Amino acid sequence: MSKCKSRLAIIIPCFNEELVIKSTVETLFGVLNRLISAEKISEDSYIYLIDDGSKDKTWNEIENLRATYGEKIKGTKFIRNYGNQKALIAGLLGVREVGCDCVVSIDADLQQDENAIETFVDEFHNGADIVSGIRNDRKTDSFFKKTTAICFYRLMNLLGVKIPQNHSDYRLVSKRALDILAEYQEEGLFLRGFFHEIGLRTAYVHFDVKPRMVGCSKFNFLSLTSLALNGITAFSIVPLRIIAVLGVLTVLGSFLLMMNVLYEFFVMHDAPNGWATLVILLAFFGGLQIFCIGIIGEYLGQIFNEVKGRPRYIKEIELK
Ligand code: UDP
Ligand code: MG
Repeated sequence: MSKCKSRLAIIIPCFNEELVIKSTVETLFGVLNRLISAEKISEDSYIYLIDDGSKDKTWNEIENLRATYGEKIKGTKFIRNYGNQKALIAGLLGVREVGCDCVVSIDADLQQDENAIETFVDEFHNGADIVSGIRNDRKTDSFFKKTTAICFYRLMNLLGVKIPQNHSDYRLVSKRALDILAEYQEEGLFLRGFFHEIGLRTAYVHFDVKPRMVGCSKFNFLSLTSLALNGITAFSIVPLRIIAVLGVLTVLGSFLLMMNVLYEFFVMHDAPNGWATLVILLAFFGGLQIFCIGIIGEYLGQIFNEVKGRPRYIKEIELK
């Protein structure tokens, strides 16, 4: 199937990226122009920037870029920081409104090898609706990030969400995937899970990760934990089942314990002195209950967010 000369949009979430955004856009225009010359994408392909409530001069930089490149630069600015996932969703839905055949999301610091975009487009022309970037390694990550990422993907796999390891938000998706995305109204959508779950034809492309040249990572322990929790609770009901299993095991355990106590009381006539057992049981079941309530709380939080039905974001400005 040939989809030659597709209109490609590149979306870039930006949070306090004033130092890098200009050179990133210039580099990406280099890629776009190469693909236009090779007649793989159409001349009206463009870049769409989402300023995720930056406190620095990111939006000024975006306006300057708009002045330089005209309508090849589009974008929107959030009224405050909503986080990378919502910025990506805004970008995806934004370019769907503007119009495109396919869209690539890439980070503002251009840590992902931009030359893979050509392979993404080739895979799209070969019929893939989703082309997922897979990192070759995690050399550029800190020890902490590397370990937590590995644990996260293992856990997701255990819970039945079979996201490939080293998956990233560097991917191409087709207009068709965007149309499906638009149907999902949930507030806390986890894109890696979503694109994997909808079941469209997917190709995988490996790419190298470069170190961040300027600025620092915009993720911290809290935002990463929240992303991981969101990913798990949004896509797996296995934790709920674990509660049920624990419930059954607990009942069985207490039944055995009761038999033991009755045996000691009626047959051995050996009254238990009780104190140690009581303390141990109280502590054990107390802990178990809190653990279970914690898991239920996660899901309640998820339901809470969805039920509120708040808008995902409030746009302050939009260039069209
Ligand atoms: N980002 C964002 N909102 C945030 C945090 C990050 O839009 O609240 C953007 C950021 O500007 C970058 C991308 O998400 O384009 C990835 O962030 P970063 O490079 O800091 O993450 P890392 O490479 O450390 O995972
Ligand atoms: Mg980065």
